[in-house]
Amino acid sequence: GLLRGTAPTPTVFETMTGWAREHDAVNLGQGFPDHDGPAWIRQIAAQAMLTEPTSGAASLNQYAPGTGLPSLRAAVGHHVERHRGLQLDPDREILITTGATEGIAAALLALVSPGDEVVVFEPFYDSYAAMIALAGAVQVTVPLSAPDFQPDPLALESVVTERTRMVVLNTPHNPTGAVLARGVLDQLIQVCSRHDLLVLSDEVYEHLVYDGEHHAVASTPGAWERTITVSSAGKSLSLTGWKVGWLTGPAELVSAVRAVKQFLTYSSGPAYQEAVAEALLNDRGFLADQRDRFRSTRDLLVDGLRQAGLDPVVPAAGYFTVVDLAPWGVQDAAHAVRELTVQAGVTGIPVSSLCRPDQPGPLHSWVRLAFCKRPEVLQEAVRRLGAAA
Ligand code: PMP
Ligand code: GLN
Repeated sequence: GLLRGTAPTPTVFETMTGWAREHDAVNLGQGFPDHDGPAWIRQIAAQAMLTEPTSGAASLNQYAPGTGLPSLRAAVGHHVERHRGLQLDPDREILITTGATEGIAAALLALVSPGDEVVVFEPFYDSYAAMIALAGAVQVTVPLSAPDFQPDPLALESVVTERTRMVVLNTPHNPTGAVLARGVLDQLIQVCSRHDLLVLSDEVYEHLVYDGEHHAVASTPGAWERTITVSSAGKSLSLTGWKVGWLTGPAELVSAVRAVKQFLTYSSGPAYQEAVAEALLNDRGFLADQRDRFRSTRDLLVDGLRQAGLDPVVPAAGYFTVVDLAPWGVQDAAHAVRELTVQAGVTGIPVSSLCRPDQPGPLHSWVRLAFCKRPEVLQEAVRRLGAAA
């Protein structure tokens, strides 16, 4: 129905993980770390599940409050203040979600009406297109170009119409790893202010920045009152399966999103929320260690791809690098990833699956490869790719 032409069933990530398993390929497709977040954080969740609540206290095995555990909302508030310089009201400006995925879904369903236009920069994370379709809205895309993949504010302004309601920003960016530059961000927000557009800012990779620094969209002058930001413990703490995310923004917008969220999942996983709350208050050096680890696995993958005759983008952030396979004679990466999986034993995601499906664009021969993996796994991938080159 509504999803036709926007998303494959199952998602491209699940499909590629299935192929990788089937052919015993190194899976650099779906973005998840192969090294779980710290045992001490997992221990807190386990303990929370096993401890009998003292009288009067809520069990952490029963429904969490619809807005999320107060301890987690407070911890997110501290976190946002420390890292982004914003002071938020945990009761009205913070909502805990079932991963960033639910935040994106609830924000689009709540704030966009059928027929509204939503601008998305391409390539884009697949759930935006799917949720815009489910909201009955129209997705308008603006292309990002290699090698820096910075959104062009003039191109944004050129697609704005009477019907434009929202702009989706994603920094750091999946799949390209680009971090929005301060000056570009200022100009994008000026366009949004001029046309009174809402902004949905997906910042799930905010703590995975290897070069330069992350600029929070909501901290940009003129942005706060129009911006909903989503983030996730999945990426920051290498606990993607926990699906603990959060959403922040001005009270009126958050309240509208909450009205929808209560009918999507109502709430989820209080024991996970409790553990994430503690980890956000004091990560015991994990965020910095993880950043260093992924910076070096990024370099390992990028160097290996260069040795295989390719010219990968060096991503400033995130889980992925994107690379054009044209030097290997590839025209259609969707076809090539199948061959790479079966013959070379390495799986990636065609960037075209993160683009509109209608016409082959300039990224048709590009693949996305994940480097959020252990060094020995990437070494093996690079060895296989080198042999296939
Ligand atoms: N946004 C982006 C850009 C992502 O890459 C992901 C996860 N791959 C998500 C949102 C979803 O995050 P979560 O797992 O917390 O739902
Ligand atoms: N966000 C992950 C990626 O981009 C995948 C999440 C999912 O499987 N939906 O690979």
